[in-house]
Amino acid sequence: MNADQLLARNLLSALSNGGVEPFFQPIVSLDDGHILGFEVLARWRDPVEGFISPDRFIPIADRFGLLDRLLDQLMRTSFLAATEWPHNLFLGFNVSPLQLRNSELATRIARAAADTSFPLSRVHIEVTESGFIDDLTQPRRTLDRLINLGCMIAMDDFGTGYSSLTWLSSLPFSKIKIDSSFVMAMHEHRQSRKIVAAVVGLGHSLGLAVVAEGVETAVQADLLRGMGCKLAQGYLFGRPTPANQVREVLSGCVSSPGVADSSVPMSLELRAHRLAEAYDSDAAIAFMDATGRVVASSTAFDRTMDVGTGEAAGQHIWNLIAVTPETFAELRATDLLDEEFPELETTANGSMARILIRPVKDESSELLGYSVEFGAAAGQQV
Ligand code: C2E
Ligand code: CA
Ligand code: CA
Repeated sequence: MNADQLLARNLLSALSNGGVEPFFQPIVSLDDGHILGFEVLARWRDPVEGFISPDRFIPIADRFGLLDRLLDQLMRTSFLAATEWPHNLFLGFNVSPLQLRNSELATRIARAAADTSFPLSRVHIEVTESGFIDDLTQPRRTLDRLINLGCMIAMDDFGTGYSSLTWLSSLPFSKIKIDSSFVMAMHEHRQSRKIVAAVVGLGHSLGLAVVAEGVETAVQADLLRGMGCKLAQGYLFGRPTPANQVREVLSGCVSSPGVADSSVPMSLELRAHRLAEAYDSDAAIAFMDATGRVVASSTAFDRTMDVGTGEAAGQHIWNLIAVTPETFAELRATDLLDEEFPELETTANGSMARILIRPVKDESSELLGYSVEFGAAAGQQV
């Protein structure tokens, strides 16, 4: 028996003795931070090997035909758990392209939902393009049946496959999930930012819901909001959690970091405060308005500047770091030309520091101000 066969055998026994359980990761509205639903992610804890990553066992489960069984189990467990949660939340399940070729899939899903009295209108099915399929006849039939039953179909990991656009036009998707690799690279690569903006635009022009995956920082969330992206998922809003912690996640969602919680337009100060708050407490980050005046700063930023907590606020950035008002004006011009801000090597509080200044924009691309973030200069601590 080779290693893969052994893994498949162990997975099979884990499936029959409750060793695999669903974890739930929130998908939120970027406008107000409300949790709209959860993606269900499989978690396998082997008594000997410990936690085994889905990236390792899912492809093997797919190859050995165990994914239908896994899905059935995850669905039944999740549907039962969700009876305790608000009844408007959706649950998103991952289904492999191979599974879509199974003509029984829709029936099995319908049965799992009926047995647990869970409405199929709250079931979203996420399909990845991986495992290319040339004949789409049966996958399309399966998806059409699921849609007729009330499910919503999402295209997962959009942009990573060879033929995302072909898939999009040939299968009945109503949601696309932008792959986390683009979202995570937005920060540093203008190209990724452009791809994300293009996908958001494309999705909306086709009438599709667009979810950005892998959102880890408030800056990413802000950039996405600026692009008009409405939905997001990622560690910033919540990690995958077991069913018994979902209630806590739901009750804490009101004060989700980096997210407005009402329809009242947020003041610049409030937004800045939220932004600063959203950063890890040990990140030296500040937010300044368009004139270069610090509006809010993290404690770590104040410490780095060697000023008392809250004392950086109100000061111009050039009074705090070795940046002249002229350099700041140049940076602003760079932004107006839609070019990437250069990183600054400068001194702050007497030592060299790498400083990242980035524009922060609102939903209509209106400049709100700039974020200032400290990174350690090569070989130095700040
Ligand atoms: P996916 O469908 O793209 O799921 C999102 C993955 O990104 C999850 O990894 C999630 O934990 C991770 N993630 C979410 N937010 C962040 C973030 O902010 N930063 C980072 N670095 N990662 C984030 P996970 O749970 O390890 O799953 C990996 C993949 O395995 C999934 O990717 C999915 O393709 C597959 N998978 C997981 N559970 C199932 C399942 O029940 N059935 C099937 N067919 N596939 C599954
Ligand atoms: Ca997924
Ligand atoms: Ca994904």
